[in-house]
Amino acid sequence: MPETQKLAELHAATLTLDTHVDIPWPETPDPRGETSRCVDYPKMTKGGLKAVVFAAYLPQGPRTAEGYQAAGARAEAMLRTIRDTAAGGDRRIASRSTDVEFARAQPGTAVLLAVENGYAMGEDISRLALWRGLGACYVTLTHNGHNQLADSAIPLPGLGDAPTLHGGLSPLGRAAIAEMNKLGLLVDISHVAKSAMMEAVALSQSPVVATHTCCRTLRDHPRNLDDEQLDAIASVGGVVQVTAVPAFLRNADADGRHRASVADMADHVDYAVKRIGLEHVGISSDFDGGGGVEGWRDASESLNLTAELLRRGYDPLQIGQLWSGNFLRCMRAAEGVAAGG
Ligand SMILES: [Zn+2]
Repeated sequence: MPETQKLAELHAATLTLDTHVDIPWPETPDPRGETSRCVDYPKMTKGGLKAVVFAAYLPQGPRTAEGYQAAGARAEAMLRTIRDTAAGGDRRIASRSTDVEFARAQPGTAVLLAVENGYAMGEDISRLALWRGLGACYVTLTHNGHNQLADSAIPLPGLGDAPTLHGGLSPLGRAAIAEMNKLGLLVDISHVAKSAMMEAVALSQSPVVATHTCCRTLRDHPRNLDDEQLDAIASVGGVVQVTAVPAFLRNADADGRHRASVADMADHVDYAVKRIGLEHVGISSDFDGGGGVEGWRDASESLNLTAELLRRGYDPLQIGQLWSGNFLRCMRAAEGVAAGG
């Protein structure tokens, strides 16, 4: 069989899941048609990308009652928009691991939801149940800028941030993690300060995940995870989803640009696999939120990532684990904790 046909068949047989894609807001071009977005459903079909997590991303704002109110309303509106624009065709909203699995066996697209920035919870912990009810499978504790739950890896002096605010998690942050465990919401520690991240790992009853981040040893960026953090995630059965953000993948060239490619992503995958084991590593794009590298500029090019992993010597089973199997294991674990198992 020609190599290209073998690759196409492997890619088609793999349950491909991108664990972090932002949606444009407030204008959201309908992803059911062809759009300027990196990820819409026609591009996913073209690229053989079978499942995607669309994140309701909230920029950090003031930690005030008004700020919390606005962020909470926006998060809910975004989740509802993701749901509304997934309707039709052979798409399915997937809030549980079993809902994602269907896309392996038959043609169709699984649409997962998430909230990026616990800021939108405000001081109302019941919002977590609302989001879970709307289908969210994870909540990213912070974005850039400290919030009421935790310190961020990147403080925002423009919002009055000192280097630390809580020294890790706040009491409300700890309560939020306990509630997320109860609801089956995964705790995403992307963007979170190391102090808070290590606390979350110790506290959470279900495995914590990093849905879009890279390895600090290969690229010294505050958003990346150092070896101690990688080890901690693996120690609780979690997963690190290497992401396609050029600034996280490699140092800038002399002209200040980051010319990252799928090969750079595979370098980070290789590194994490060697350090913590293949079962703790995965893949995400951060498309429409700053992600995109040579060879994976949008969802239509997803085959190139499978090709690169194959070139690196991963076998079909391992490629399936990297694309979705490991993340789905974490979803199952979170569902088990929520069910009291
Ligand atoms: Zn992000």
